[in-house]
Amino acid sequence: MKGVVFPGDRKVELLDFPDPTPGPGEVVLEIKASGMCGSDLKFYRASGGAAALGLGKVSGPIIAGHEPCGVVAAVGPGVSEKQARIGMRVMQHHYRGCGVCEHCATGWMQLCVEGVAEVYGATGHGAHARYMKCPARTLVPLPEELSFETGAAIACGTGTAWGALHRLGLQADHTIAIFGQGPVGLSATQLAAKMGARVIALDISEERLARAKEFGAAHLINSKSTDNVVQAIKDLTHGRGAHLSLDASASPLARAQAVRCVRTWGKVCYVGEGDSVTLDVSNDLLRRQVTLIGSWTFSSVGQAECARFIADRGIDVDRLFTHRWKLGQAEEAYRLFDLQTAGKGVIQPS
Ligand SMILES: [Zn+2]
Ligand SMILES: [Zn+2]
Repeated sequence: MKGVVFPGDRKVELLDFPDPTPGPGEVVLEIKASGMCGSDLKFYRASGGAAALGLGKVSGPIIAGHEPCGVVAAVGPGVSEKQARIGMRVMQHHYRGCGVCEHCATGWMQLCVEGVAEVYGATGHGAHARYMKCPARTLVPLPEELSFETGAAIACGTGTAWGALHRLGLQADHTIAIFGQGPVGLSATQLAAKMGARVIALDISEERLARAKEFGAAHLINSKSTDNVVQAIKDLTHGRGAHLSLDASASPLARAQAVRCVRTWGKVCYVGEGDSVTLDVSNDLLRRQVTLIGSWTFSSVGQAECARFIADRGIDVDRLFTHRWKLGQAEEAYRLFDLQTAGKGVIQPS
């Protein structure tokens, strides 16, 4: 089979790999949808590809794609009927840990005390290929009502937004400022609005702000053309500031604004990967009793809950996708995604 590889420096290669066969406890998925996530851009751009990003050891070319969704195509020895059946519609929780420590046991394989053994699509073969091999215990059933594309989004970007809103304790009477309206931020806007909150969406792209409006944002702020972003948020909240804020942009400036725009006792959550932030700890945090939270994706249990919520509320997550690509179009797909003005893309290998 062919698999998409990021050798680094904005290059995309389509390489030949043997079709995988499942070992004990493993399954092979036939991938129907493999989402393109903002963090893929880090692997795509990095000099040296995924290996350069410190997620773990990488040997040889690794197939990209960490939003896997498809059907079970083959089942290895020792996998029970309950875990996986041929033809079962599934998402995958894209991490492998030891499987027994307290974090793995509660579905947080990425927090494994022994260190995450594999991040699929970064240090282990991912879903930008027709087939993908993984442990049966990393599978998360895809509700019948949801498309494979929605499942792919939940498998990282949308699930990450959901996880962050849960970490923040979002309530319907909250106003939340969401910085960055890429795939994760836009999902957060959509989910927070569906949970009943008032969303102030921020971005530097008018195109992305227009989409945020369609996804339920009550107010839009272009942080490039607005002189004082924090004041603009205060103006929308009777001078008090937002109850909550979420940074999905990873911009050092936006991160500082996300802290400064919340009211006293407010909560802030960072989900954007990489880079840094400079804060005036006393004024920005301590003297206003601000809580600053970091949130890394979600557990496999949370992934199932997110899917259930989206199915039960009939949330149109498919609308996030502006581009659908075949495997052979991966180079063009990432070139466009790299501009960070379009919506989310998905690769459909089969
Ligand atoms: Zn573990
Ligand atoms: Zn991701």
